[in-house]
Amino acid sequence: MTIGFIGIGIMGRPMAKNLIKAGYRLVVYDKFTKFDDLTAMGAEGASSNKEVASKSDVVITMLPNSPQVKEAILGEGGVTEGIASGKIVVDMSSIAPAVSREVGEALKAKGVAFLDAPVSGGEPKAIDGTLAIMVGGDQKIFDTVKPILEKMGSSVVLVGDIGAGNVTKLANQIVVALNIAAVSEAFVLAAKAGVDPAKVFDAIKGGLAGSTVMNAKVPMILDGNFKPGFRIELHIKDLQNALDTAHNLNVPIPLTANVMETLQALKTDGMAADDHSAIIRFYEKLAKIEVRK
Ligand code: NAD
Repeated sequence: MTIGFIGIGIMGRPMAKNLIKAGYRLVVYDKFTKFDDLTAMGAEGASSNKEVASKSDVVITMLPNSPQVKEAILGEGGVTEGIASGKIVVDMSSIAPAVSREVGEALKAKGVAFLDAPVSGGEPKAIDGTLAIMVGGDQKIFDTVKPILEKMGSSVVLVGDIGAGNVTKLANQIVVALNIAAVSEAFVLAAKAGVDPAKVFDAIKGGLAGSTVMNAKVPMILDGNFKPGFRIELHIKDLQNALDTAHNLNVPIPLTANVMETLQALKTDGMAADDHSAIIRFYEKLAKIEVRK
C-alpha cells in the first residue's frame, strides 16, 4: 500500500516519519516547506498534490486550515485531479466541520472515500506516535485506515459521520482554551495574594481542579517559557471555527467568545507565535504581576 502525505509542517513531518519507520511506502509533497529529510528516509518526493494522489492508495493531508485543505484537495493541481475511484483521502488538519462535509461530498462524487481525522497532543506526541485521533466517516473506511492511524496515534476513535472528527476537535479546543484561562486567572490571584504559585500548583494539581492542561502549562508559566508548542494564532483559528460552527447551529458559546478576545489582545501585543500558555500574560498585565518561580 502506498500512502500519500501532503503538508510536511510541524505536525505532518513527524507523523510522516512514523509511517516510513512503520514500513509504509510514502509519496510526499508540501507547497512551501522542504521535505529532503523524508526523501532521505526513503519517501518519494512529488511536485504537486495531484501527483501525490495519482500515486497513492490513501492520501493524508495535514494542512493549516479550511482554505488550504480546499485548495490542496479540490483546487487546481489538487488531489481530485489525480485520484482514482476507490481510493481514500484522510484529512488530519483541524478545520471547520462544514468544510470537511463539503470536501467529503466532492470526493464522493468521484467515487473517493473521505475521513476527517484531526489530532490532539501537539508536536511531542506527533514525534512519539501517541496522538489522540478523532475520526469522522464511514465505519468500513475507518476499519481500513485504522492500522495506518495507529502508527501515528495511541488513541484512534471513530466519533460519527464525516465532520464529527472536527466537531470533537472544536470541543477539545474549547476545553483547552478555557482551562488555560481559568488556570491563569487563579494563579494570578494566588501570586498577587502573596502565595507561592509553585506551592499552589503542588497543593491543587491532585484535586478536582487538576488537569492535563494544568500539568502541561503551569510548569511552562513558572519558567516564563512561552515557546510553542501550540501557537496562539492556531488557537485563534480553532476558536473562530468553533464560534462559526456554534452560531450556525444557534448555540451561544459566551466563554469561548471571551477567551477569543483575550487571544486577540495577545496577538495585538505581538504574541501570536507564542504558546497558548501565554494566555496568562493577559491576566498578568491586568493585575500587574508575573506568575514565576
Ligand atoms: P504547519 O503550518 O507547521 O504545517 C502545515 C504545512 O502545510 C506547511 O508546511 C505548509 O507549507 C503546508 N501547506 C499549506 N498549504 C498547502 C497546500 N495548498 N498544499 C500543500 N501544502 C500546503 O502547521 P502544523 O502545526 O503542522 O498544523 C497542521 C494542522 O494540525 C493544523 O490544522 C493545526 O491546527 C493542527 N494541529 C497542530 C498542533 C500543533 O501543536 N502544532 C496540534 C494539534 C493539531
